[in-house]
Amino acid sequence: MADCTHDCSTCASNCGTRSKTSFIKPPHMLSHITRVVAVASGKGGVGKSLVTGLLAVRAQAMGYKTAILDADVTGPSIPKAFGVHDLATGTDGNIEPVVSRSGIKMISMNSLLEHEDDPVVWRGTLIAGAALQFWTDVVWGDIDIMFIDMPPGTGDVPLSVFQSIPLSGVVVVTTPQQLVEMIVKKNVNMAGMLSVPLLGLVENMSYFTCPDCGKRHEIFGESKAEELARAYVFPAVARIPIDPAMSRLADMGRVEEAETDYLADVFAQIARSREIKNYL
Ligand code: ADP
Repeated sequence: MADCTHDCSTCASNCGTRSKTSFIKPPHMLSHITRVVAVASGKGGVGKSLVTGLLAVRAQAMGYKTAILDADVTGPSIPKAFGVHDLATGTDGNIEPVVSRSGIKMISMNSLLEHEDDPVVWRGTLIAGAALQFWTDVVWGDIDIMFIDMPPGTGDVPLSVFQSIPLSGVVVVTTPQQLVEMIVKKNVNMAGMLSVPLLGLVENMSYFTCPDCGKRHEIFGESKAEELARAYVFPAVARIPIDPAMSRLADMGRVEEAETDYLADVFAQIARSREIKNYL
């Protein structure tokens, strides 16, 4: 301890006064982003990308300058749902995002691949690196709310994105099914470990309303949304029905026409979440 230089970055000692290492990276110098919200799920296929898209559509419609960073590098689906097929332009280290019809700025692996059906067959470190470059190398300009479509799960790639990008909070997307509690708990634990606030729990494909008789059917099982939200202290909860019209709109690149009222309470939490400038 006698030789302490108070520079923890070059010291291997675990002396107890060690400052907490931060892996947070600043965005591009021409990006001024007020809030960043991660949309996460314990596994793929639960509608995380659709929910990310719907939240962004709602934000933009309410007058917020909105962006989507599609960090789901191996399963990128955001630009397609918005009908954006342009390739991103720019040079190394200065990438211009693509823009949707309503003005949402977005970047995705699909915006960089000449053929959007090309598979991304990279190792985890490269995948995480690409997602981080979307943060550090894209010239986002002025953005009020950025949504990050996270890679599914709680493995190395989502962890590295969580650690490197300052977050206002996280929205967890799930479906009603067995084991859902364990899956949500993993997301909650990861957010807790990294001191990222939980903003909302979205139970997607929660029920189906019969178009003939109007009766609600809980196709994948009884809803656990309220119970889980109480147990893990999510300040807002949303239930989105199975709606073939919604997936048709996403397939046709017209997600901006979809209903977003289901997400009103979760969005209200996002709009008042912490600003990231204090965490950079
Ligand atoms: P993830 O990002 O979790 O892998 P996606 O958002 O890509 O999942 O959704 C998977 C598929 O399910 C997509 O075709 C999407 O349009 C469809 N889908 C998602 N949520 C719903 C819903 N509530 N009703 C109908 N189809 C849905």
